[in-house]
Amino acid sequence: MIDLNATPGDAEDLRRLARDHLWLHFKPARMADDIPIIARAQGCHLWDADGRRYLDALSSLFAVNIGHGRADVVQAAVDQARELDFATIWWHPHPPAIRLAAKVAELAPGDLNRVFFTSGGSEAVDSALKLMRQYHRITGNPRKTKVIARRTSYHGTTFGALSATGITGLREPYEPMTPGGVHVPNTNLYRLPPGVPVESLAEAVADAIAFEGPDTVGAVILEPVQNAGGCIPAPPGYFQRVREICDQHDVLMISDEVIGSWGRLGAWFGAERFGYQPDILTTAKGITSGYAPLGAMIVSDRIADAFGTENLFAHGFTFGGHPMATAVALANIDVMEREGVIDNVVANESLLQAALDSLRDIPIVGDVRGAGYFWAVEMVACQSTKQKFTPQVAAELTAFITAEVFRRGVFCRAENRGDPVIQLAPPLIAGPDEFAEILAVLRPLLEETSERLGCTV
Ligand code: PLP
Repeated sequence: MIDLNATPGDAEDLRRLARDHLWLHFKPARMADDIPIIARAQGCHLWDADGRRYLDALSSLFAVNIGHGRADVVQAAVDQARELDFATIWWHPHPPAIRLAAKVAELAPGDLNRVFFTSGGSEAVDSALKLMRQYHRITGNPRKTKVIARRTSYHGTTFGALSATGITGLREPYEPMTPGGVHVPNTNLYRLPPGVPVESLAEAVADAIAFEGPDTVGAVILEPVQNAGGCIPAPPGYFQRVREICDQHDVLMISDEVIGSWGRLGAWFGAERFGYQPDILTTAKGITSGYAPLGAMIVSDRIADAFGTENLFAHGFTFGGHPMATAVALANIDVMEREGVIDNVVANESLLQAALDSLRDIPIVGDVRGAGYFWAVEMVACQSTKQKFTPQVAAELTAFITAEVFRRGVFCRAENRGDPVIQLAPPLIAGPDEFAEILAVLRPLLEETSERLGCTV
């Protein structure tokens, strides 16, 4: 029998219980026998159940922006739970949801003033896609239901969000998809075929709208810096041109900032950093720095006004805008404001870039790209020709790197969605010491791996 009041057992005991009962995400049902268990965290570091320390160079999946273990944020959760543990926002608002909605509206760019809370990012994206369809129905365009997204993009795993996600391997096992997802090339300039002009990337959106029929396309969804495929920024002018195209065809622009907001890209919101104005912005993760599950869809006045007081948005989640999560989000934003967390990103992002750029002399390093505290290193077989690894080698390489950096004391991830990349996104309180810690592990590992695989310049 499981003793619910037991203090955490020893590592072996926990591993046995995990192996027998816990299903990890994006994994088969049964996990490996020797899987490390993350037991504790403080600042930029994690500790496993065996007491080993790791640098959290991924902010525990792009979430823990203010760093781990903030007693003041934890206290905000405790205080809120004492005052009001739970009430849904289906019928009545509660104080932390009201205050957070107002704060989010104050910080969000332009007229993004109406906030709909969810429990996470996929729910925020699903909410945006449903809102888009209903908005067009209300405004007399019921056929405008399709969403244009970019290849290799990740917008979540629920069926609606998955129809926008542009990663074949995540879609294929669950087909048929919810209809309406249309995919255009992403903005990976490193992989732009020779002779193809950069401007064609935004024009691909216009072409897709023309091809599908403007009266059937309801939205374009894009991240300010695309995560999957490896922290892919857009070329200058891209978002502004997409905005123009959207305006031309009455297509809503959705900025999916589940990762790219709350300072990750050196501004409160990615749209602000790159100078574009979306109609809907989706967010999650860093809104609470991961201390509680919360997401949000932030809607422009123009879209919200179309719903007015008459048109019901028949959509919601029991735990969307949970009192404890919204109180935690307020405390998190308070920390970010009081302690200049985003200023730290702005001050240090070029140092992080320089640290990763310094790896370019290693033959396996093909590209270094990103923004803010959100960077990727793309690995190649040959630097000068940008030769790719075979799919099998790329898959083995990323699995090896993920395990090996961890064994050497850094938690980050190597991913093989598109091309093999190592992603680095430390907490936004990190600085030169943490960058040095990353390099101390990455450089020798990449040198050894490059030599073993016979990578060439
Ligand atoms: N959208 C983007 C851009 C994301 O990066 C993610 C998750 O990483 C999601 C949506 C889905 O968020 P969640 O995992 O909270 O459902």
